[in-house]
Amino acid sequence: MKFRRTELAIGLGCLLVGLFLIVYDFLQNEGASEFERPKIALKTDDKKFNFKDFQEKMGGSGAKTSKPEILITEIIVKQNENFISFLKRHGLSGLESMSILNAIKGYYKSSTLKRGQRFFLKRIKIEGDPTLKLQKVIFLVPPGKKFSILRKPKGDFYLEKAPDILPKKTQFVQGSIQDSLYIDALKRGLSRSAINKLSKIFSYSVDLQRSLRQGDKFEVLVEKTYDPETGFVDPGSIVYAALYLHSGPQKIYRYSMKPDEIDYFDEKGAGVRKALLQTPVKGGRLSSGFGNRNHPILGYTKTHKGIDFAAPQGTPILAAGDGEIRKLGWLGGYGNYILVGHNKDYSTAYAHMSSYAKGLRKGTHIKQGQVIGYVGRTGRATGPHLHYEVHYRNQQVNPHKIKMPSQKNLKGDQLRNFLLYKKGRDGEVSAFRAGH
Ligand SMILES: [Zn+2]
Repeated sequence: MKFRRTELAIGLGCLLVGLFLIVYDFLQNEGASEFERPKIALKTDDKKFNFKDFQEKMGGSGAKTSKPEILITEIIVKQNENFISFLKRHGLSGLESMSILNAIKGYYKSSTLKRGQRFFLKRIKIEGDPTLKLQKVIFLVPPGKKFSILRKPKGDFYLEKAPDILPKKTQFVQGSIQDSLYIDALKRGLSRSAINKLSKIFSYSVDLQRSLRQGDKFEVLVEKTYDPETGFVDPGSIVYAALYLHSGPQKIYRYSMKPDEIDYFDEKGAGVRKALLQTPVKGGRLSSGFGNRNHPILGYTKTHKGIDFAAPQGTPILAAGDGEIRKLGWLGGYGNYILVGHNKDYSTAYAHMSSYAKGLRKGTHIKQGQVIGYVGRTGRATGPHLHYEVHYRNQQVNPHKIKMPSQKNLKGDQLRNFLLYKKGRDGEVSAFRAGH
């Protein structure tokens, strides 16, 4: 019995190790596509990379043993790590770490060190000395800045020159939806991190789960930076993305108004991060807020799960945001009712309408501010008003308490500059599309 239990334990152990290896391998592969194999030996100290790809090799291709060996070790900053403790963790002495910190002091604030930032330790083996000597520390600061910190013969470090701006590398991916945007974009070679960025960019205007149909096309242009010395290619950022939906194309451009103010805009220069309209009825006046109140008709206290806007019969009701009509029709006490889905999390509901705007039905795509119906008193209503609800993951929430980003729309000179920039980007994309 005891023997069997041991056997069982070993079996279970093996199973766990196997499972761990599968998960581990999956996690390892995640980063692999973002990193191209360099020509020199590369090793990683942190467990986020695929060790298989970075087995230690001799420096240079077919190098003779008499040549110095080069070993580059990639090290990645962990959460809440400071400069000194980080370098110490990777075997550097306190003195060395301080010297490196001093070398970049004028260019980089060590307090802004972030989790995930990359350093490379370049060690060189010189003839007659069996040990590898740390000769250089390379520090990459996204997007595309590179610090090269060299070691003096005496042992202390100095910054080689002002930080380098790394060359750019673009990746154009296009395809059509067969399974899902995620799977199809992955198949076309887009990295997981780029796909996550892509869904974030579109999350304000498209419900990626429901609005995409089989055969809809997508295009993505990613700008990466590349360091020839270490072979490191950063995951980069999406500079252009398009979804060709059945309702029409949606194109998004990354644009920077000021050097450190980067945002995404649609073709007309409207910011993609959209807030819902505060007052989705023309000239409406808030008449009843969210929360407990005495129900005027039913005569008992109940939670008011929306807000009411008093407005004359027939006043146009506006969609609070871009989206798709999910429900349109009579709904008990709500009377004539429309539910608009804005993204996977948010939807808004409009009740007691006297009538709907023409041509709308379930599935219709609508724009923020578009008239979807008219104020009325259908269902359980004492007088004409709009009962408006915001749903977050299918739960009514207080519209005044939700945290939605503020939208940036380009105007005047900014808009003119953007349109000029967009023209250039469109030209670049058509060249990629044509395969040049
Ligand atoms: Zn109400």
